[in-house]
Amino acid sequence: ALAQIGVTGLAVMGRNLARNFARNGFTVAVHNRSAQKMHSLIEDHGDEGTFIGSESLEEFVASLETPRKVVVMVQAGGPTDAVIDALVPLLDQGDIIVDAGNALYTDTMRREKDLASKGLHFVGSGVSGGEEGALLGPSIMPGGPAESYVTLGPILEKIAAKAEDGTPCCVHIGPDGAGHFVKMVHNGIEYADMQLIGEAYDLLRQGLDLEPAEIADIFAEWNQGDLESFLIEITAEVLRQTDARTGKALVDVIKDEAGQKGTGRWTVKSGLDLGVPITGIAEATFARAISSQVAQRQAARGVLAGDAQEFAFESRDAFIEDVRLALYASKVVAYAQGFDQIRAASDEYDWDIALGDMAKIWREGCIIRARFLDRITEAFERDAALSSLLVDPYFVDEVAGSVAAWRRVVAQSALTGVPAPAFASSLAYYDSLRAERLPAALIQGQRDFFGAHTYKRVDAEGTFHTLWSGDRSEVEA
Ligand code: NDP
Repeated sequence: ALAQIGVTGLAVMGRNLARNFARNGFTVAVHNRSAQKMHSLIEDHGDEGTFIGSESLEEFVASLETPRKVVVMVQAGGPTDAVIDALVPLLDQGDIIVDAGNALYTDTMRREKDLASKGLHFVGSGVSGGEEGALLGPSIMPGGPAESYVTLGPILEKIAAKAEDGTPCCVHIGPDGAGHFVKMVHNGIEYADMQLIGEAYDLLRQGLDLEPAEIADIFAEWNQGDLESFLIEITAEVLRQTDARTGKALVDVIKDEAGQKGTGRWTVKSGLDLGVPITGIAEATFARAISSQVAQRQAARGVLAGDAQEFAFESRDAFIEDVRLALYASKVVAYAQGFDQIRAASDEYDWDIALGDMAKIWREGCIIRARFLDRITEAFERDAALSSLLVDPYFVDEVAGSVAAWRRVVAQSALTGVPAPAFASSLAYYDSLRAERLPAALIQGQRDFFGAHTYKRVDAEGTFHTLWSGDRSEVEA
């Protein structure tokens, strides 16, 4: 019998994705550039379902039923192009290539256009949930032609994570690059969420002089409430881990230099291009960059004045609760901004993305899965055209109940010199949104002064310019 789906690229992700297909009853064709990975997959897990292994790409393609569905799960960038180029001559009209790697969405748009001209369907698909998600059920974000989703969708929905109400965490996001765009923003939100958790940890640690294991208990408790999420859960586990070599908390022997593979940076660049203020994601990405500037930190340490105050708060419990509320409110901002970015791209590229669906498919399977996603889903169910998550009545109330604590925490951060860039910039974003007037009026005046860039008036239609280097009268531009 022929295989219903094929996976080429059997490193951690592809291997587990192939097993997931097999465990769900699909016959899976498997292939890897170096055949060893294919053989070891079948050796180790052949009993989990039906695999057809091939050493060559030709045999692999020949082992698939038509229209063929080939999932490519290799390193993003050049390797993905190389695999696609090798596949194309072996495929027939109507066959589907799914790129399930972390491709940059503009690459996906280019590839889709190219393959469409050859009569092939190309589906750039985000897959989140890491190694374990790939095996047990990831959140899947497929883009590409809607037509291809008719045959591909049911297979992907079968292996996807399921939300509590049984809904698969997989939906056709939109055409061409939409799936990879949404996956990129998902990763950006993940950066923001992780940074916010990191700032909460640092404030608790320095403010209360706690040991990591004690903070693990706090996070574990938070995980019972509104903040319940995969990232909070694993944070408690990481903080509780003892280093076998030194007996210290593992977190204290890990170098404080955060790595990044690029999706945060892509998200920020796209935010800049689209003109969407994704300040939470940007601060998180820059915070990783600062952490890795070892030489600069070294040069500044002990040299730059701190003039910092001691932490001051009512009680230990009150401070913990303040930090929890600041984390929650900042997190709402990060998601609100991420959804704004998806909306902006959807408008820019005519992707027609249903924002409510994004919250739905992130409820399980992915790294940012959280109880709070249910609340976001409900917000978009109440109003699909919501201008910002922050103005949804539920979130208005939630943040209203957090904002005083949020201010206290940001103030403590500033006064004590314990940096909390994502907390602070999220609060500034919130205050900017709610401000009656912004100093942008002055900026318009400055721009008009040095560059005759003109301005609009609050009390009259039209565009105006002041003759700054003349008699300073106003003219209509
Ligand atoms: P890697 O990104 O480490 O890629 C390794 C795989 O790519 C191997 O199968 C390798 O084959 C293959 N490969 C590399 N270059 C080529 C080439 N020129 N031609 C053919 N095959 C090539 O694997 P991962 O499993 O970690 O990730 C796969 C994709 O999934 C990536 O795009 C990644 O960004 C994405 N992703 C990863 C997640 C994770 O948690 N790791 C989560 C979500 C997405 P060989 O064995 O022969 O070297």
